Formats: sequence, C-alpha cells, structure tokens
Amino acid sequence: MRRSDPMAPAHTHRSGSFGPPESRSPARYRSDRGRSAVPDTEKPALRPLTRAEQRVILHKGTEPPFTGEYEHKFEPGIYECKQCGAPLYRSDDKFEAHCGWPAFDQEIPGAVRRLPDADGERVEIQCARCGGHLGHVFEGERFTPRNTRHCVNSISLRFQPK
Ligand SMILES: [Zn+2]
Repeated sequence: MRRSDPMAPAHTHRSGSFGPPESRSPARYRSDRGRSAVPDTEKPALRPLTRAEQRVILHKGTEPPFTGEYEHKFEPGIYECKQCGAPLYRSDDKFEAHCGWPAFDQEIPGAVRRLPDADGERVEIQCARCGGHLGHVFEGERFTPRNTRHCVNSISLRFQPK
C-alpha cells in the first residue's frame, strides 16, 4: 500500500527544524552567569566595620579592659562574630573572671581557631570562618573545671538574645 493520499498527515518530524542556530547562543548572558562563580560558603558576607572595630578585629588590637559592653552580661543567648555573624560562644559558657574582658571556658565546637601569638607567649583566637581577631586563650588558671579562659574583646562580638 502506497501513501500517496495528499490528505494524509505529513511526516514533518523528518524535515522539521530545531530552530535557528543564533537562538542557542548564550553569549549575551555570560556576564550574568559569572556572578555566581564563587559559592557563598567560601566567601562569608562580612559586615562593614567601624574604625574601632577594625583596630581590634582586623589589626589584632585589644580594647581597654573594663570598657567592653559584654563583660558583665549574663543573659541567655549566643555571641556571634561581629564581622561575619558566625555563632562563637554560648552564654552558658561565660563566667566572671574579673579580668576586664568577657571570659568563656569553651567555644562552640569548631567556631574558633587557635594560633600562636606574635609575642611568642600567648595563643591568639580567631573566628574560624572569617579570621577576625577575637582575643587570646589561656589554660591552667583554674577559674572553672574546664581550666580554660577565652579572653575575648567585646567589640569582636555581637550578642543575640535567646
Ligand atoms: Zn567571623
């Protein structure tokens, strides 16, 4: 049987076009796609810092003792990194050390990096996510059973109440 009937459906799929080649060109969208080249997890969003915050957080300065806003704060909550917002310390781990700065005997696991200080004696603590300077950590002082004191500049922190 021959398909010679002119009213029969044409086999258009055999000769159909997939569209003009220029419609597949992504050239003019390249700049838009480039914006997401770096995943957010590798590049934390950093808050803009004041000059006083920069002096401590970026240049490893120390705020004067007994001047920070969090030394005597004991409300329940979380202390975050001022620069990147990473949760660093819990109010449950804060204690009164009478040293002039907020003191914690434990960090939130993985949140704080320890590095030998430039003075060769102390151990610097930094935000593990953004590298912002927090202060120093001391061991063996027997303030609490954990025997550890994270001596942190208030200005490096931002308190979030529970
Ligand atoms: Zn940070």
